[in-house]
Amino acid sequence: MRTWVILPVLLVLAVPAVAVPPMPGPEAKVAEYARAVDAGSMKATVEKLVSFGTRHTLSSQTDRKRGIGAAVRWAEAQMKQLGLETLQTCDTVTKLPRVPTPTKVCNAVAIQRGTERPDDVVIIQGHIDSRVTDPMNATSESPGANDDGSGTAAVLEAARVLSKGKFPGTIVYAALSGEEQGLLGGKILADYAEAQGWNVVANLNNDIVGNSCGSDGTCNDRQVRIFSEGPRWQGHDELAAQIRSLGGENDSPSRNISRFLDTLAERLGPDLDLDVMQVWRNDRFGRGGDHTEFLNAGFPAVRFSVAVENYNWQHQDLRVEEGIKYGDKIENMDFAYLAKVTKLNVAALAWLASAPPPPAVKAEGAVSTDTTISWQSVPGAVSYRVWWRRTDSNQWEKSDVAPFTAEQEEAMVKACLAVAPPGLVIDCSVRSVGKLLKGVRVDDWVFGVSSVSKDGFESPVASGVPGGAFRPYVASEKD
Ligand SMILES: [Zn+2]
Repeated sequence: MRTWVILPVLLVLAVPAVAVPPMPGPEAKVAEYARAVDAGSMKATVEKLVSFGTRHTLSSQTDRKRGIGAAVRWAEAQMKQLGLETLQTCDTVTKLPRVPTPTKVCNAVAIQRGTERPDDVVIIQGHIDSRVTDPMNATSESPGANDDGSGTAAVLEAARVLSKGKFPGTIVYAALSGEEQGLLGGKILADYAEAQGWNVVANLNNDIVGNSCGSDGTCNDRQVRIFSEGPRWQGHDELAAQIRSLGGENDSPSRNISRFLDTLAERLGPDLDLDVMQVWRNDRFGRGGDHTEFLNAGFPAVRFSVAVENYNWQHQDLRVEEGIKYGDKIENMDFAYLAKVTKLNVAALAWLASAPPPPAVKAEGAVSTDTTISWQSVPGAVSYRVWWRRTDSNQWEKSDVAPFTAEQEEAMVKACLAVAPPGLVIDCSVRSVGKLLKGVRVDDWVFGVSSVSKDGFESPVASGVPGGAFRPYVASEKD
């Protein structure tokens, strides 16, 4: 079906900008959820997780007290108790270096369906499986308190706090298995999201989020690292030449989720008392996490991790050597810090599930002194905001509103139908909206657009560059 683009709308919207006042409403609303996060309840969750002895993916599926099976069943039961719809997403995996025999890998998942846009989904996840020094050791004590009991506790705490609310979009809570054997649970959930037709706006992966001191004695409980990929990986072969010509090395949807989280942490101020350290690479140097499987499927995803890692407390047999204690034990954790990281997650989930999804954006204006920004309208948006920044700036710098009312939308549909040549079937439900930036040269800036809900929740910015859209990349067909 052909999309009918209504260009005259550009003229309607190219009116002088109206200053939008700051939005205390949305901040106050998400801060209220964040304040309900409780360090004590998270400590109890990690204690329970440690009590399963080992949560190694190849450990017992059937033992009632020890092993991965008991842990996954417990996590699902916790979420069910909150009144959430729960399920286990499973797959049988084999013939992998770390899974030699057929093994059932199951995630505990809860879905809080959106009241208005149930297919727009934001996900919080952590991995429930644990390991010691030998990745194949499924029998030794493997507490996995911080890696990744901390992320799993963040998932369950977010579910506890947010299940009391109602949101236009859907929130998914997931405790993933099989991470240490090769990101297996992340792949299973990404496949499930794809099969459900979910529009995943953001995947927030929490992996090692509960300690504040490193192996060298350096401590930092004021920052959290957020890792994000630069150009999107999915579709990279097709995108490479376009990105070289039009830019986009620094503008994947995941990078814009990172910018969004950085801004959100600032907006929450003392309510949060946590600064975002944006790290502009997909993960730690040469290491990985479950968000990567979402990126492979084309969904925006970032990793939260502590500011300072302690390598003596990860992937280690429990032991003391030359006076140094090794092992991922609960005594090494900082629950006040874990609560702060969880608060940022909770605020982000509440915000993203309340905001419309960002639109797909196009910037044009080669050999012109002006730039035209256009995008397709998204359900739930009552207005849009055009953003731009210098190409070497790390945050969006300038913005201007692009008012867009229900009346204008109706007029656009009428105009679309009126201009349709007889006999030609066109889809007037997909509309193009635009704004002309006079005296702003497309060469010197990066442009993006956010969408805003009726109660002031503004989406992350989607960049108007190749691969900038918040949806899986599809190679453009030539007609
Ligand atoms: Zn981990």
